[in-house]
Amino acid sequence: MDPIEAAKDLFFIERGFLSGNHFAYRADAPVLIDTAYASELGKTKASLERLGIDWGRTRLIVNTHCHCDHVGANRVIQEASGCEVALHPAGRGYVEKADRLATWWDYYDQEAEFFDCARSLADGEILAVGPHELEVLHSPGHSADGIVLYHRREKALFSSDTLLEAGSTVATLRLEGQDSVSAWLASLERIEALDVRVAFPGHGRPFSSIREAVARTKRRLEGYLTRPESVGDDLLKRILVYTLLMRPRVGAAALFDRLMGTRWFPDTIDTYFEGEYRRKYDEVLRGLLERSIVRAEAGTLVATVKP
Ligand SMILES: [Zn+2]
Repeated sequence: MDPIEAAKDLFFIERGFLSGNHFAYRADAPVLIDTAYASELGKTKASLERLGIDWGRTRLIVNTHCHCDHVGANRVIQEASGCEVALHPAGRGYVEKADRLATWWDYYDQEAEFFDCARSLADGEILAVGPHELEVLHSPGHSADGIVLYHRREKALFSSDTLLEAGSTVATLRLEGQDSVSAWLASLERIEALDVRVAFPGHGRPFSSIREAVARTKRRLEGYLTRPESVGDDLLKRILVYTLLMRPRVGAAALFDRLMGTRWFPDTIDTYFEGEYRRKYDEVLRGLLERSIVRAEAGTLVATVKP
């Protein structure tokens, strides 16, 4: 995917499923918004270099939230450039306390490294990136520290994981709390009130059908309130797919045990399906194989989500 110039010298870089999409402002002292997943450092560096951006000159990294697929290169870039990192105060707090659970990293068995975060981005603040003014909107729900960035002049919204085109969501209520669903719905209301021509999401391609995406996300979240087990089913699918993406060499025979050694898999089943680990594993895997989201290949399972 070629980068898209969302506004002058401000590029949207679409990535796969494992790394979150990110932005780069090309200048003598570049600004980066999110930095993808740790295991894809090389691809991240290459995608910036193709734009003529040397990450060693980075002035500032802004993170839309502190999940591993958005902060993966922070530490390396900060060591190379001495740049500042800015997060919503909630995320800054997790980083200062080195909280590997609130960040989801340990819960989801993910790779990530801490970095120094010396700057907070509060709701309503205007972030200057070159000539661009990005309005910071706190958008809790997916994560308590989530922000979206609104470029009012371009009518462009950097919607991160708060709003994806398919309305697909990852809601970890065990960490974020039951209230996070209503917080998320409120965040969507705020987004709906903006005049948005195009949204650049945290995963997937840019889209203009904002109302439809908001409606899809709301429907799914409202389903979480009326059918709590749908949270569990959605999570289990993601747990399997993410695990296969993060650890592509886990053999089919070893996958169940690997999952049982994590926190998120047994915890999700205990919460929603009364300890039926094997039955739910078989059921979810069967569904993913039937829909060709996962493919069985010579003793391994491969997630077919595009890199
Ligand atoms: Zn996220």
